[in-house]
Amino acid sequence: MNIALIAHDKKKNDLVQFATAYQAIFSKHTLFATGTTGLRISEATGLNITRYQSGPLGGDQQIGAMIARNKMDAVFFFRDPLTAQPHEPDVTALVRLCDVYSIPLATNMGTAELLIRGLELGLIEWRNIIKENGEIDGE
Ligand code: PGA
Repeated sequence: MNIALIAHDKKKNDLVQFATAYQAIFSKHTLFATGTTGLRISEATGLNITRYQSGPLGGDQQIGAMIARNKMDAVFFFRDPLTAQPHEPDVTALVRLCDVYSIPLATNMGTAELLIRGLELGLIEWRNIIKENGEIDGE
């Protein structure tokens, strides 16, 4: 599965901890991240991560483009709900695209625990059916 990892600045430590705890599961998947989040996680865990631009510089939109092309299967997006973000429209757009394409999205640690365990159990294998059927693929 292709998995996106994104965390706002005050949530980065949480996502690094989370990725470290579940490194064994994440290592079985193909990982993508916004710039700084990806750097922090790969430094801490050694996980192989394709890094896009930093979020405020367009990274959220790059991940959104993957979702729109039916290339992303799950998103871990640890948002900071208490701090204004300069790229708030991009954040909103990314969450919206997850809803448009029914992509599993965890925006906090509580849901992330469920999503990672679901991944481990193969509970999002239905994504393979959608991809095989090309139901959303615009290519
Ligand atoms: P960053 O971007 O990983 O480059 O910090 C995340 C964000 O703020 O959207």
